[in-house]
Amino acid sequence: MNILLVALHKESKIIPASYELITAAQQLGGTLFTAILAENAQPLAADMAARGGGKVLAVSQADLARFNEEVYAKVLAELIRKHQPALVLGPANSYGKALFGRLAAMVSGVMTSDVTGLALENGKVMVTRPCYGGSVIAGVVSKDSSGPYFVTVRPKIFAESTQGAGNVVNETVAESCYVSGAAVKEVKSEATGTRNLAEADVIVSAGRGIKGPENVALVKELADALKAAFGASRAIVDAGWVEYSQQVGQTGRTVNPKLYVAVGISGAIQHLVGMRSARHIVAINKDKDAPIFNVANYGIVGDLFEIVPALTRKFKAELT
Ligand SMILES: Cc1cc2nc3c(=O)[nH]c(=O)nc-3n(C[C@H](O)[C@H](O)[C@H](O)COP(=O)(O)OP(=O)(O)OC[C@H]3O[C@@H](n4cnc5c(N)ncnc54)[C@H](O)[C@@H]3O)c2cc1C
Repeated sequence: MNILLVALHKESKIIPASYELITAAQQLGGTLFTAILAENAQPLAADMAARGGGKVLAVSQADLARFNEEVYAKVLAELIRKHQPALVLGPANSYGKALFGRLAAMVSGVMTSDVTGLALENGKVMVTRPCYGGSVIAGVVSKDSSGPYFVTVRPKIFAESTQGAGNVVNETVAESCYVSGAAVKEVKSEATGTRNLAEADVIVSAGRGIKGPENVALVKELADALKAAFGASRAIVDAGWVEYSQQVGQTGRTVNPKLYVAVGISGAIQHLVGMRSARHIVAINKDKDAPIFNVANYGIVGDLFEIVPALTRKFKAELT
């Protein structure tokens, strides 16, 4: 079975979720290909090859400097027609989600998104993915189709591959692939200087218990002391205290850190579905019956305005 990984990058660096795809693919065996599309794909391709990305197909072109899903999909469709993978893997981040549905339609494939497990069953790829807000884990086998099976894999499920075998092959595709109805002029980071929620090992999130926007800094300080990303419940996003990009939950981001600290968050189901797969959950809440304690590994019942500054002082002293 040929497996194609779509490695994505940001600010001239491979995003860590791409290294995780190598580990996911290795579980299945087969022949591994990696596609890397960039203005200068060589250094990125060499990085993927050194980590075990197999045959790394490097496409370098000025039009690939910025992520344009229409162009990326056309280039990848051409690589897929040439190399005939049975399975195509990409990260279930915003880029992967934008790209894979379009790509599957272009080459008559089928797709499953946000996958947390992959295995071979009777020669077919079986994936698992959470459904109904994480209450059910579904096993999914693709229907037979003329095209490959496209799967986006949730970040932080598989370990990053650090080394392995691979070689880089330069590829060119038809010039028509670069013709697009849209041009990406500029890419702006929404929250400059903040850590990325999807990739964070540690997240500290704030909820309505913080009382007002002036107290966001209190929780951000704890996040900084732990070198953590800062997240939020929808209540304080809707109130305009923090940006939507920080929202965790059903209508925000799904996160999967090693440690999730919930500060003044009640634990509504719509919040839990976005974070309850975290390996360890610590909840700080003054209400001992708050539902967040049902999923927390460690609970601190008390006033966050006393507990959070004390923890920040302690971690600053211990970790710096
Ligand atoms: C369709 C739909 C989609 C939704 N999507 C999302 C989503 O993606 N993400 C999300 O988060 N929500 C989402 N919600 C909203 C969700 O239902 C809750 O309303 C929201 O999560 C509540 O946020 P909260 O826990 O911050 O606030 P609250 O429920 O008001 O909880 C505040 C908590 O702070 C505690 N507290 C108060 N003062 C202190 C103190 N001094 N010290 C310690 N603890 C204190 C309280 O005991 C309470 O438990 C969605 C709702 C709907 C209907």
